[in-house]
This record gives sequence, C-alpha cells and structure tokens, in this order.
Amino acid sequence: MVTNTEIKELGHFINGEIVAGTSGRFSDVFNPSTGAVIAHVPIATKEEVQGAIATAQAAFPAWRALSVSKRIDIVMKFRQLLTARMDELIDVICTESGKTVEDARGEITRGLESVDLAINAPHLLKGEYSVNVGGNINAYSAKAPLGVVAAISPFNFPVMVPLAITSMAVAVGNSVILKPSERVPCSALFFSELWKEAGLPDGVWTVINGDKDAVNELLENPTIEAISFVGSTPVAEYIYKTGSQYGKRVTALGGGKNNMIVMPDADLEQAANAFLGAAFGAASQRCMAISTIMPVGEETANKLVKILAEKIAKLKVGPYTDADVDFGPVITKQSKDAIIGFIDRSLNEGATLVCDGRNPDITGNPDGFYLGPTLLDNVKPGMEIYEQEVFGPARNVVRVDSLEEAIDLINAHEFGNGVTIFTNNGAAARKFTTDINVGMVGVNVPIPIPVGYHNFAGWKRSRFGEGHMFGPDQVRFFTKTKIISEKWFEENSESASTFAFPSN
Ligand code: NAD
Repeated sequence: MVTNTEIKELGHFINGEIVAGTSGRFSDVFNPSTGAVIAHVPIATKEEVQGAIATAQAAFPAWRALSVSKRIDIVMKFRQLLTARMDELIDVICTESGKTVEDARGEITRGLESVDLAINAPHLLKGEYSVNVGGNINAYSAKAPLGVVAAISPFNFPVMVPLAITSMAVAVGNSVILKPSERVPCSALFFSELWKEAGLPDGVWTVINGDKDAVNELLENPTIEAISFVGSTPVAEYIYKTGSQYGKRVTALGGGKNNMIVMPDADLEQAANAFLGAAFGAASQRCMAISTIMPVGEETANKLVKILAEKIAKLKVGPYTDADVDFGPVITKQSKDAIIGFIDRSLNEGATLVCDGRNPDITGNPDGFYLGPTLLDNVKPGMEIYEQEVFGPARNVVRVDSLEEAIDLINAHEFGNGVTIFTNNGAAARKFTTDINVGMVGVNVPIPIPVGYHNFAGWKRSRFGEGHMFGPDQVRFFTKTKIISEKWFEENSESASTFAFPSN
C-alpha cells in the first residue's frame, strides 16, 4: 500500500532557485499508484515565461565565453550528482509516474548516456581546417551556441527525455529552458537543484512549469532560437509548424505504433518473452513500446497466441512499492478511461479478447489508475485500435500471411517510430531492414532504442523536422556553424582589386 499525506506546492526553477508561481493557476500532480494528489504545480503566465527567458538571455554571454573545459567540468559534476542521488530520484519518478523501481533506474541510466555524450562535447565541437584553399587563404569552421533554446518534454520519461534533449544543449554553451510535462514536474525540479550544486551559473538552466500558454510563449518569443519537443503527434505537428513560422529551428518527435514481426522460423518462446516486456513494460507508456505483434502464417499465430496467453496471465500489476510487480498504473484516470474505451470499441469492430485487463484487482490501492494487460487478436487495418497510438496496456495481434504483407502494412501506417523482426533467417532480416520505412529498426531485439551516442528519431508522422533526440546530431542542432576564411599579408606584399568572381 502506498500512502501520501502531504500535498506540496511546487514552483519554477529560475535564476538558480525555486520560485513560486504568480498566476494563481495550478494543476494537480497525482501519485498514479494511489490516485492521490501529491502536489500542485503552478501554470505559468506568458509574463512569467518572458521573465524566465530574460534571465536565460542574461546568463548566455558569460556561459558561452567560458572555456569548453570549464563547462564540461560542470557537466561531469552534474553526472556525479545524478549517480550519487539516484535512489532519491528513482523515488521521485516512481511517485509521480507509477513506474517500477527498476524501470525508473533504467530510465535514469539511459538518460546518463546523454550526459556522457555531452561530456564529449569538446571533441564533437571540433571544426574543420583547410590550409591554402587559394591565395594563401586558410579556411576553417567553428561551431557556436545558438543562445536561448527551449525543450518541451512528455510525461512518460520524466528524467530520460529531459536529459536527452537538454544535456548537449547546455554543454555546447546555450542557456536552456525546459518545460516539463505538468503531470510529472517533480523530477525536473529535483535535478535542477543538481545543476545548481554542480556549479552551473544561475540562469543557464531554467524550468518553467505550465501548459500550452507557456509553450506558446516559447514558440513565439523572438529570443528563443530553437525548440526540441517530444510528445504526441498532434502536438508535435503544432509545435513544428508554429515554431517554424516564428523562424525557429524545431525538432518535434511524436507518437508511434510499433510492430514486432514474428517469422515462422523464430524461436517462439524467445519472441514471446521479448514481446511481453517491450509491449507491457511501463504500462505500455513508451513511445517505443511494441503495440502490435504480427505473426507470419496461421500456424505461427496460433502457437504464439497460446504462449502469450499463458505468460500474460502470470503478469503482476501493482504499485512500485511491491518489488514483484511487472508494471504499474497508467498516468491518469482519464488515460485509463480512454484505454478502456479503445478496447471496448475494438471489440465492436471485430477484435477478439485473448486477455482482458480492464478490471484488475489491485489489493490495497483501489483508487490507483491500474489496468491489467489486454491482448486483442484478429485486429485488422482500418480498426481504430490498429490505426491510433494507444498509450496503455492494450496490445494487438495482427495476423499476416507473409513477410511482404507485414512490411507493406507497416510502411502504409502513418507512424514510423520503431519496428522489429524475430527470425533466424538472415535473408528475411536483410529484406526487412532494407525495405522497411521506419526510423529505428531491430532484428531479434525487443525494443530497438539506439544507445545515447547514436541518433534517435522516427520517420513519417513520428517526427517533424530533421533533428534527433540524442546522439551526435544534438551538436548540429544546438549550434550554428561559422566558416572563416583567413589570410595574413606579408610585409610589402602586393594586392590588387579583382572584379571577376574569385576562382582559386
Ligand atoms: P503530450 O503531447 O500531451 O505533451 C507533451 C508536452 O507538450 C507536455 O509538456 C505538454 O504540457 C505539452 N502540450 C500538451 N498539449 C499541448 C498543446 N496543445 N500545445 C502546446 N503544448 C502542449 O504528450 P504526453 O501525453 O505527455 O506524452 C506521451 C506522448 O509522447 C505519446 O504520444 C508518446 O508516443 C510520445 N513520446 C514520443 C517519444 C519519441 O521519442 N518519439 C518519446 C516519448 C514520448
């Protein structure tokens, strides 16, 4: 049983300290495991966002001017503090998101990969140099920070996504404003204090809490140079279009509908085990969660569904305080109701229930936002539950006759975030990796999330703009490149005007 008694009033993190909101508007933050309100988060006004932007802008020149080594000393200290305080941060994540302890630890560990890459900024910032490109001119390139940049993050990774979309931005010399999800603001406020303790100058790191009003100010304010967004596809599209209209550099990562193809030659036990974690981990609230399993051939499908039904019946759902649970609640009561609605409508459309998680019995926490694992068979293209992202533990079986049919279906879908195949046939795997129109692709890997030093992003309507969430592309996204052509005259050397376009 999880209990919470105290309701905290949260603030923003501006100019190196937590400041109270002035709008008088607040949003409830829940403990999804109990259903209790644990905090009130202030919803910033446009004026509060403008004030935060001015503070960030004032801090930028000195931060940019600091040597890259001194900046990286601070990033390294930040990393040490994140590691030293990991257990406390895990507790904050679990309380506001409902994740299990090991899942929260995993998310921090993956977030640390982005901090590690940021520690490599001195190497990644190196430019190019060419000697004597013509007329004793040397040419070189140098990367400069953009100025004040903003990051807007979703609820499902309260730490990993903010770290992934801000660490390099800080390291290369920008002032950064994070607008975390109003559903999980405590984690970002917690690690803001670690930036301060690590020695980051006041104003370089800001957290502004709020909703679409705060986001709109970030999108429209001329001081903001770039926006890195991660969230649902409709909001990602809005952010990309609006931010671009206001002349900003924008990357907006959206939702997904990720498939696992299972070939007849695959080890079905292995495929089923891989599916369970990838499909239901974190209550299926991962952008890279597997939504749909596509067994190839009727015999594969029948065997696989039988194995899955037996394994799913053994999964345990409950609060993070129980070390044995496989996954916890979904984020809100509204989310739970929406997922039940998806399941109900899919049954009307012809899907069939293999496992029904709509009414789980969670002893001791009757008001938590729990759903058990639901598996629907005979799901078909055109059904709502096939077409839309369902951010909760309702997963699909789509039966296909051939690898070609699976590839065609996946390529025709609007999302293109992640996909994987389970097979022992190298030729099938090669055809799949070549023909599939998706950004992150796995072979015998349950969730093909690239490690932090590779780039991460989907294709199609899973991403708007050309940037990536982590990986070396972050350096390109958060800097601008200057090309310098330089020549020094020797004493008494001759020079003449030339009116033709210069050739070398
Ligand atoms: P969301 O789109 O509702 O919210 C994301 C952020 O946008 C939040 O900070 C929120 O306050 C803000 N926001 C919400 N509505 C807005 C509006 N109308 N105008 C301006 N800002 C608005 O997403 P969520 O529910 O917090 O997160 C889950 C979604 O994020 C899922 O779709 C998931 O697939 C996606 N996601 C994608 C990735 C990826 O890498 N592609 C990673 C994590 C999550």
